[in-house]
Formats: sequence, structure tokens, C-alpha cells
Amino acid sequence: MELKFKSLSLFEFRERFPDSESCIKYLADQKWSEGFKCVKCGHGNFCRGGMPHSRQCTSCRYDESPTANTLFHQLKFDPLKAFYIVYFVSTNKKGITSTELSRKLGLRQKTCWGFKRKVMKGMKSSGNFPIRGEAEVDETVFGGQEEGVRGRQNKDKRLVVVGIEKKRKGVSRLYARVIENADAASLGGFMNDHIDLAAKVTTDQWTGYGPVKKDFENLVQVPSGKKGGNFPELHRVIMMLKAWLRGMHHHVWHLQDYLDEYCYRFNRSFMKDGIFDNLMARMVKTPPCTLKNINA
Ligand SMILES: [Zn+2]
Repeated sequence: MELKFKSLSLFEFRERFPDSESCIKYLADQKWSEGFKCVKCGHGNFCRGGMPHSRQCTSCRYDESPTANTLFHQLKFDPLKAFYIVYFVSTNKKGITSTELSRKLGLRQKTCWGFKRKVMKGMKSSGNFPIRGEAEVDETVFGGQEEGVRGRQNKDKRLVVVGIEKKRKGVSRLYARVIENADAASLGGFMNDHIDLAAKVTTDQWTGYGPVKKDFENLVQVPSGKKGGNFPELHRVIMMLKAWLRGMHHHVWHLQDYLDEYCYRFNRSFMKDGIFDNLMARMVKTPPCTLKNINA
């Protein structure tokens, strides 16, 4: 299962974003693509503000910059370099480490790490594209010995529920969530957020899926078979996800953000076009977060 991206080439990217000014203008165009509405008073008219491409409300005089209230809020380095980070994270088939970003962009590794974490927040699933048709769901353990599924968790070991949409012999959509327990509430919560109620869902015979059937009428439970032999596509996806994570990140801290990043690229590998602009649009609509919040 090769992930393919026919997205913005580096050449096209450089043409579109030759300097910091073009980045700020792009952010302003994205931010107010559906018109201006003052965040302080709701007024709809503006005049030019005091900062590059900022807009000032003609009623309360609040001057809003293109980066305010977005994931670019209080960016401490050149926006052009921030755009390069978004570009590399969204278009590299397997993503990119902060060490590589640091080398490419001449920024401190910690700076790249911090901003990349913000980009990952923009990759969180909107919940707008549920799995339809044929679905499979299972849980797995990340970290530790990766044994004893549903066992106790600690800081080196996390339980994750994974759902896929099957198309012919492949997988067309993927979601994953860190859960505290493999109980009906956690499994059902994940499924309600990411799977269409009419989907034909297959799970193993774990009791946690029993109560979920009242929402998912077409859910069937089958024995998982030896080493998950009845769920070959699902287990191949899980194996690839774990292999990627081992290469990218050496522990299970912040695991949900890494799962979101992986699923985001996986699900968009079928769309091919527009991954950079899609991610930018999300970053502009996602409220700012400080690194302190991110690390919590
Ligand atoms: Zn106002």
C-alpha cells in the first residue's frame, strides 16, 4: 500500500511563496476568505490596519493581524520558514522529523519541534468524513512490549482503538484514538465520532463491543483468528503505523497528535491535490495553542 502524493512541488511552492510578505498575504486571504467579521464586536466593516495585511474594525477599532487567533499566533520566527514546515509536513510521504527541519531551515531543533506540534494540531480529524460501507475496528497496544492488549497502561504503553474503511482489497480511510480502557464507552465514543451508523462494522468478540450494537445495527463480531488472521488489512495498517511511529518518535508521549498526523496524511493520500492548502485552511481556523498547552 504505497501512499502517493501528487501535491504542490517544491518549485511551485517557491513560486507561490517567494518571501514572508506573500505568506502573510496568503494567511489574510485564507482567514477572511468568507468575509470580515470583527472578533471583538462582530461588526462586518474594516479598514486597513497598522500591521501588514491586518484589518481594523471600523466600529470598535480593533486591529487584527492575519496570524491572530490562528495556529500562527505569536509566531516567533520568519513566517516563510513556518510555511516551509507546513509544506514539508504535509507533502513528505512519511512526514519529517524536527531534526531534519532544523537542518533544512537553519532554525533551532526545539523551534521546529514546537511549530511542528502546532501543525499536527491542524491535522486533527474534523469528524466530517466518517467511515462508510465496510468497516473494521480493533484495539492495539503501542509501546512497551506491545503485548497484552487491553492490559494496564503506563507512560510507556498506550491502548489505541483503530478503525478502517475497506475498499476492495485495500483501505480507503483510517482513524485511531488513544483510549484509557477498552470498554463500551471508549470504543463506542470512537465509533460514533468516526463511523457512519449504517456501516457494516466487523470487530472481534471482545465484550466491550456488545453494547455498541444498539447504535451500530450492522455490527458483527467474529473470532479474531490466530494473530488477527481474520483482519489482515486492519493489521497491516496497524503494523505500518507502528513502524512509522518507531522511525519518527521514540516513545508514546503525545501519541494522539502523532496518530492524527499519520491518519491525516493517510486519508488525504487518496485526494492527492490540495493537501497543503487544506492544512493551511485548518491551521488558520484552529485557535492558537501555546507549547505549554500542547505538552499538557
Ligand atoms: Zn469591532
